[in-house]
Amino acid sequence: MGIQELTQEIRKNSIRNMDKKSPQESSASWFGEDLLYSGKGKAIFIILPTPGCDWALSGSGGCTMCSYVADSPLEMVESDILINIFQNLLDKYEIEGKTAVKIFVSGSFLNPKEIPIKARNEILKILNKYDDVEEIIVESRPEYVSEEVLRDCCNLISDKIFEVSIGLESSSDYIKKNRINKGFSNEDFERAINIIKRLKLNYKIKSKAYIFVKPILTSEKDAINDAVASAQYSENVGVDRISFCPATIHKGTVMEVLWHRGSYQPPWIWSILEIIKKVRNSIQIPVIMDTSGFGTRRGPFNCKKCNKKFKNLIIESNLNQSVPEEFQCDCKVRWMADVEFSDATRSTTNLTK
Ligand code: SF4
Ligand SMILES: [Zn+2]
Repeated sequence: MGIQELTQEIRKNSIRNMDKKSPQESSASWFGEDLLYSGKGKAIFIILPTPGCDWALSGSGGCTMCSYVADSPLEMVESDILINIFQNLLDKYEIEGKTAVKIFVSGSFLNPKEIPIKARNEILKILNKYDDVEEIIVESRPEYVSEEVLRDCCNLISDKIFEVSIGLESSSDYIKKNRINKGFSNEDFERAINIIKRLKLNYKIKSKAYIFVKPILTSEKDAINDAVASAQYSENVGVDRISFCPATIHKGTVMEVLWHRGSYQPPWIWSILEIIKKVRNSIQIPVIMDTSGFGTRRGPFNCKKCNKKFKNLIIESNLNQSVPEEFQCDCKVRWMADVEFSDATRSTTNLTK
């Protein structure tokens, strides 16, 4: 069985077993410190309910590590309900001082089949009223990035930064196709980035690449090398900012199946540190490392003694764009052995095992 058939099969089962959630249950928000283009500030994160990522629902099965579709209501949520949910979530926070608002839709904000155009426009108009909102950040697959859609969005938000985040995951088309089931190539990604670059003449528009650390069937050493190469590629093609997403095992994914079989482990936090060191020394654009899931059973790990300390150091390094100061821990030798072992024996997991 190939990667796509396996993904389709697992996705079908997980959708069948899903508890149907109401739009309200599928929405959430939180607030935290963040690094804005203008320096340290705050960010409000808002998750909106949508029918789910079109790629995951298309029959392709979606990406091998992603379970977002399981958190979605599976039906299009009416514009007025979406706008209302958005406003209520936003009203929970006092917007004072420079703030970024990050809108997550478990898919593509720019796809009208996921977020109706009326809701998209109203949400942007709402945000435009807040002087202290400096950045509006949305996510989209590259196929929904068009000059027309971006102009429509930017025309509604006067002088704020509009950032489109795209899940590149890896700059290797082989990895995207055979280990992630991403459904687009570097060529598609560059087409979207070039549209954003052209529009910079008229708008404060930016792009961000999400890079996934350690896809399935990838050794510890290859995961480090691929993450660093993908960051360098992103900068070279004109991406403005990078966000690394180290693997965490989500329910109902191919990744989870392999993990249960003992054929996959999330990356070591030592590997994450290595990636940060290498990218800070080789690229200039801002780089953020997501630390969610660190130290949990399903997330990146070192050992109980150092997980938390390193997580805090990485959060600090995100805000300062510094290299975290390393301290020694006994678990490092086990990580080094893993990296050396993975160098000697390339991953050869059989998907049909
Ligand atoms: S990672 Fe993004 S594109 Fe892939 S299935 Fe999940 S939401 Fe869709
Ligand atoms: Zn340790």
